[in-house]
Amino acid sequence: MLKIGIVKWRGKCSKHPGYDPYLDGPGAIRGGCTRCEALTEIQACHQRMLALMRQFAPPDPKRSAAKKQGDAHLQESLFEEL
Ligand SMILES: [Zn+2]
Repeated sequence: MLKIGIVKWRGKCSKHPGYDPYLDGPGAIRGGCTRCEALTEIQACHQRMLALMRQFAPPDPKRSAAKKQGDAHLQESLFEEL
């Protein structure tokens, strides 16, 4: 059995604080900055991890629908897949 808790993590390049791997992508890395490259790799690994988890155990559509109805008054998660 594998258990992974909620992970909140922030990383920022001190030279390029505005660089966002989600929005900018690897093409926006300036001068081969290793910190920005590391952020891009972390983001890619995270996306891969989420994909593997969904592949292993897809979300239950009944449970998701029930939860959406019950939480209709709450704001949608900002981290839902686009
Ligand atoms: Zn950088």
